[in-house]
Amino acid sequence: MNSPLILPKFRKNKKAVFEKVIETGQFIHFIGENDDLRKPSSDVPVEKIKTKEYKEKFKYLKNCMLRYRKLTGVGRGITAVQIGIPERFSVVYMPELKGRLLIIINPKITKKSKELLKYPEMCMSANPIIAPLARPSWIEFEYYDEEGIKRYWKKKSGDKKGKMYNRVFQHEIDHMDGTINIDKIDSRSLIFELDPAFYDKAKFEKA
Ligand SMILES: [Zn+2]
Repeated sequence: MNSPLILPKFRKNKKAVFEKVIETGQFIHFIGENDDLRKPSSDVPVEKIKTKEYKEKFKYLKNCMLRYRKLTGVGRGITAVQIGIPERFSVVYMPELKGRLLIIINPKITKKSKELLKYPEMCMSANPIIAPLARPSWIEFEYYDEEGIKRYWKKKSGDKKGKMYNRVFQHEIDHMDGTINIDKIDSRSLIFELDPAFYDKAKFEKA
């Protein structure tokens, strides 16, 4: 191959990045593979949350989250529709929590901040495409936990961890409504995440 004057900057990383996409693609549904990703998912019947059927579904989603993190070292949230179950539940990776994984079922947003923050988001169903997206800096929502108990999320801490959780919950609730992060911005703002220092440099900015 004749060498052009300027080679792509992150060419050396591309094989590793796309190899991970191949591996995670064995259990994650990508856009274009499953029409359910663009449709609203169904509510989980609350009276069934503690049944064996749902315990198995929750366990499978948790295992997918852990497997994704083991393969890639990243990933903070996953929603059931992304593994082929079009129902309204997600797993959020919270390392400071006992068990590290929080299940939220049938969440309903009750309040949103007016302040917007921009952050470059990845999505397991569109990786390695990144959407630098503005969202409310926090939300409040109610949900059921995996014991079938109604809970409320109202944490608004301004540190990076707090901002991240509020962002991840919004991203996952969007999945339940059939929306992917890349649907929410101009396609010209999308980028490939190929720089190994990408997440070290990523930060929340006022939008
Ligand atoms: Zn996603």
